[in-house]
Amino acid sequence: MATTAVPIERKAPNRLFIGGEWVDAADGSRLEVRNPATDEVIVEVAEAGDRDIDAAVAAARAALEGAWRDVPATQRGVLLWRLADAIEARSDELARLESLDNGKPIREARIDIREVVDCLRYYAGWASKLQGETIPVRHNVLNYTLREPVGVVGAIIPWNFPLLMAAWKVAPALACGNTVVLKPAEQTPLTALELAALAAEVGFPPGVLNVVPGHGERAGAALVRHAGVDKISFTGSTEVGKQIMREAAETVKPVSLELGGKSPNIVFPDADLEAAARGAFSGIFYNTGQACTAGSRLLVHESVHDELVAQIVERARRLEPGDPLDPKTRIGPLISAEQLERVLGYIELGRSEGATLLTGGGRAAYRGEERGYWVRPTVFERVSPEQTIAREEIFGPVLATMTFRDEDEAVELANRTIYGLTAGVWTNDLKRAHRLARRIQAGTVWVNTYHPLDPASPFGGYKQSGYGRELGEYALDLYTQVKSVWIDLN
Ligand code: NAP
Ligand code: MG
Repeated sequence: MATTAVPIERKAPNRLFIGGEWVDAADGSRLEVRNPATDEVIVEVAEAGDRDIDAAVAAARAALEGAWRDVPATQRGVLLWRLADAIEARSDELARLESLDNGKPIREARIDIREVVDCLRYYAGWASKLQGETIPVRHNVLNYTLREPVGVVGAIIPWNFPLLMAAWKVAPALACGNTVVLKPAEQTPLTALELAALAAEVGFPPGVLNVVPGHGERAGAALVRHAGVDKISFTGSTEVGKQIMREAAETVKPVSLELGGKSPNIVFPDADLEAAARGAFSGIFYNTGQACTAGSRLLVHESVHDELVAQIVERARRLEPGDPLDPKTRIGPLISAEQLERVLGYIELGRSEGATLLTGGGRAAYRGEERGYWVRPTVFERVSPEQTIAREEIFGPVLATMTFRDEDEAVELANRTIYGLTAGVWTNDLKRAHRLARRIQAGTVWVNTYHPLDPASPFGGYKQSGYGRELGEYALDLYTQVKSVWIDLN
């Protein structure tokens, strides 16, 4: 097996980070981390099992009840801000590492890292602004609330935005005074380990942030079951989300879930069609379609469908596999052989269930060879809402277009899904925009844009896209619990 050198200034850490120490797995297990562009092994990383999870949870508990408890709120904010500075200072290196590990174009990896920095700074500000209330209850009694950390947070994240998903959980959790055991996805542990190294470097006490790469079925499940973990924060598939809910019931552990999507992107004839084409294109092909927010169902008014879709197809045909580390590259490979097989399976289903393929529809070669996990950007048109590719989350660069005749039909089609994460609406009719924003069942509705997120604005799902809101002030509710204190003044 060929091993490529890691093209970064210093070797990325490759062991578990527990209680401020780099350690091997108790049973010596390791997992291979591959470059999705070429299928080559980049590095091997220690793989956590039950005993390592026990150790990480114990370290997080000790920090929670020890050094971390005594760190004043303002200082928690200072540490988060310093972590943001440290990441910003290394952003080139981290973007390259993320691109190498995940396969995403360096251009997109740089955007991720910038958003990581923003997220840490946003929550650095909140650390000192968590306050309770004084509540007028009966006479001669003082009643007030304390907003306390939940405790030890188990964070389980996917591979599609590795460092960003870590930041979305770690930043608010630490701002609120919790400690964290973070399990990155088995495919993409490298930037999470860097995060641990930088957190230690800027002065977070040992045990506050522990990072334990490993498999979901082992390390992830152990974290969910663990009686010493007070909360699970999960991003990933709806299927695993349901399993986590069931498992967490045993210990009555609060769970927040950010799950899959099958987001509608709806184009009305009065929209700026060129802008809509650009938005629909990046809506589905950004991150090679491996985004829970992907605008995978394009609903277009029948009068403009062909014109709009022709523009998207034209752009899709120009997307060529390129070295993810090249700033000119606009699309990367899928994350893994498993994901490639899954996406190709959906493309086959699209064909066999009778959808019309306009472009793409198979594997793509990389540097003239069939290696890595490349798939051609794919567009199916006039897909019926009953077809599998119109209903299930594909998590790849596969767009299904559909037509509608009027607003009611557009809303009905948009909401005809078990998911409800995001939606796009393209119209220049102000009243229609606000009407649709209310009628669509989704946690985020974008009008005349697609994909912008900000750490200050809440993000999360309706229906089977999950519950709990990450980002913004809302995320503080996920990582705090409220205590009511009564003082008798008689
Ligand atoms: P996944 O299995 O849901 O993985 C998400 C995270 O959960 C990973 O860290 C995973 O570990 C862990 N995990 C898996 N099984 C677990 C268990 N029983 N208990 C605790 N943790 C567990 O998703 P995936 O396998 O990466 O991708 C499969 C599909 O999920 C995709 O095709 C896509 O449809 C969807 N997905 C959605 C999102 C999103 O942002 N909403 C993100 C990723 C994937 P491993 O690394 O070992 O799997
Ligand atoms: Mg999995």
